[in-house]
Amino acid sequence: MNISILGAGAMGSLFGGLLAQSGQQVTLLDINDAHLHAIRREGLRLETDNGDRRVSGLVACRPEQASGQPDLLLVFTKSQHTDSALRGIAGHIGAQTRVLTVQNGLGNAEALCRHVAPEQVLIGMTNWPADTVGPGHVRSHGQGMVRVWSADGVERPANAEVAAVLDGAGLNCAPDPEVWTSIWEKVAFNAALNSLCAVTGCTVGQLDGASEGVELARAIVLEVLAVAQSAGVATDTQRCLDSVAYAIAHHRTHQPSMLQDVLAGRSTEIGAINGEVLARARQAGVAVPHTATLLGLVRLIEARASGAVHE
Ligand code: NAD
Repeated sequence: MNISILGAGAMGSLFGGLLAQSGQQVTLLDINDAHLHAIRREGLRLETDNGDRRVSGLVACRPEQASGQPDLLLVFTKSQHTDSALRGIAGHIGAQTRVLTVQNGLGNAEALCRHVAPEQVLIGMTNWPADTVGPGHVRSHGQGMVRVWSADGVERPANAEVAAVLDGAGLNCAPDPEVWTSIWEKVAFNAALNSLCAVTGCTVGQLDGASEGVELARAIVLEVLAVAQSAGVATDTQRCLDSVAYAIAHHRTHQPSMLQDVLAGRSTEIGAINGEVLARARQAGVAVPHTATLLGLVRLIEARASGAVHE
């Protein structure tokens, strides 16, 4: 399959590298020139549980240099950059191109459907972890999975075809008509841990330094799942609370990407996570006071970092 990855950071490079290794034709599209140069010069350095190797044969270029129209476009920018990134490759998306997002948060399907016919859009969830070590070098340790389905809920051959290609790359992927359950449960997980760590500067493990930290995480999970329920999505509350407790107990030194973004003075995905939950909660008349407070606090941190808060 001819595959383009839009946003070849930690996750885009991981998926792109594994797909190329499995024999697919992969083009990485990014605006980070140092990363692109390193990949063109020496291949992509990929560190996973299967070893530390360099993947060659990838095309790595800026979005405006993208040629042809791929069978599959995988969108892996941070959610706040999806619209501008898709505007930058309008001619690269053909009528036969499937466009897949497994980005975190909500609103990603709507973002893709602003640029592509809804029947071309696939959505999903992944819990594979990845970090950028340096230009041309990404790392992913541990195991994960991917679930995908069409954005409009219709069963099409493309759902299984796309899943099979990702699965063939070792990404443990299956088509799943209940994909919204996975998406909402991950949103609950991220709304709790990412925003709390971003505001407090705590690593995930440090959230149990005070009992209030664990209670806040639990309260946010329950709020998000109440909104999911109001949207008609069945979720498993205990599974979600268990995965948060597991992360606090076992990923003790992990800094969620939202904390990394705050520390680097960058914008965050708070809008796609707490922000989208609050918008849906308001429509449904569900109270989400903790989620809303964390949204406001992260927005203030972003505003101060961007210089919008005056002395
Ligand atoms: P990242 O910041 O490492 O990568 C994003 C890339 O997008 C960057 O390389 C950036 O240069 C590029 N980009 C920005 N604007 C662009 C544009 N206009 N055109 C092309 N490229 C552009 O982020 P990430 O950690 O890989 O996360 C990507 C998505 O996957 C996010 O939604 C994140 O929440 C989700 N996710 C991440 C992980 C993880 O462990 N890192 C796990 C699951 C899901």
